[in-house]
Amino acid sequence: MSPPRERTGYKIRRGSGKAKRKSGVADARIIDGRALAGDLRQRVAETAGRLRERHNFVPGLATILVGDDPASHSYVRSKRNACAAAGLAAFDRSLPADTPEAALIAEVGRLNADDQVDAILVQLPLPAQIDAHRVITAIDPQKDVDGFHPLNVGRLWTGLPALVPCTPQGCLMLIRSVRPDLAGAEAVILGRSNIVGRPMAALLLAADCTVTAVHSKTREAAAIARRADILVAAVGRPALVGAGWVKPGAVVVDAGITAISAPDGRTRLVGDVDFAAVRAVAGAMTPVPGGVGPMTIACLVRNTVLAACRRRGLADPPPI
Ligand code: NAP
Repeated sequence: MSPPRERTGYKIRRGSGKAKRKSGVADARIIDGRALAGDLRQRVAETAGRLRERHNFVPGLATILVGDDPASHSYVRSKRNACAAAGLAAFDRSLPADTPEAALIAEVGRLNADDQVDAILVQLPLPAQIDAHRVITAIDPQKDVDGFHPLNVGRLWTGLPALVPCTPQGCLMLIRSVRPDLAGAEAVILGRSNIVGRPMAALLLAADCTVTAVHSKTREAAAIARRADILVAAVGRPALVGAGWVKPGAVVVDAGITAISAPDGRTRLVGDVDFAAVRAVAGAMTPVPGGVGPMTIACLVRNTVLAACRRRGLADPPPI
């Protein structure tokens, strides 16, 4: 499929307000994910308003949360709030940690059959007694807002219209905000998970990049990364990517999020990229927090509206 083409009216912050460091090396442009995500959510809200006026329906997202993991609770709350803020309907299902797999699949079945629900999100990870793959495959592919169902995965890789996973979709928009034309660019993705790395590879390949996926068994990962015009990190290892991993002028997108305890006892979110070191080498880069995270949520809101339109046989909303 064609990768989603997004408006490129992006906002960029210069690192510290100084165009150049003392060494003469220019600071990387800092790509403002919060601003871009706010813009996207505003446009999705406008689309939702038009759907309400012209077609008399409100797109709805159902979230299912199993167990009491605080991080999962917080993610689901943010997603729900973002949908509500865009004027969408939100339906919540909270199930106990010992919910059997069959009961969860039955709940998915009820949401599949509910006409008010356009999009279904099962928050991962799931408790050990539940096979996430079986649950994901039970979701109606038309309501698979995370784009994890094998049918959507296949559609993405074969170039058919698909619901595309939110994090890589957001990463692509961040990349395009500073480099709209990606044809021929060398792209390296660190990580090959089904949630980020693999769909990111599919999107960048569809955008005519030359794509390499690096994983835990890759030899000479830093040398491969250093070839990249576009470097996406989705590993979950704080500060793995140092200055020696980055080609001068590259666009670096950091999807990693790890919560670490700071010396003051507070919890801090850090990415996979050593921000201070890489800033002196990269051409543009995303911060953590404030980069990929807000875009993931905005893309979820967008996917909900897209699913609602496609399910009703309406044309896709215009490019955002
Ligand atoms: P994951 O399923 O654990 O996958 C991690 C990937 O990194 C695997 O493919 C693994 O290789 C690879 N890897 C591990 N150590 C490596 C190393 N030293 N060198 C090269 N590759 C290495 O994680 P995920 O779900 O993709 O998430 C990755 C990061 O993104 C996490 O920090 C997560 O919190 C974050 N994330 C953020 C968002 C967001 O909204 N911003 C959304 C999703 C995930 P193998 O395949 O060989 O094991």
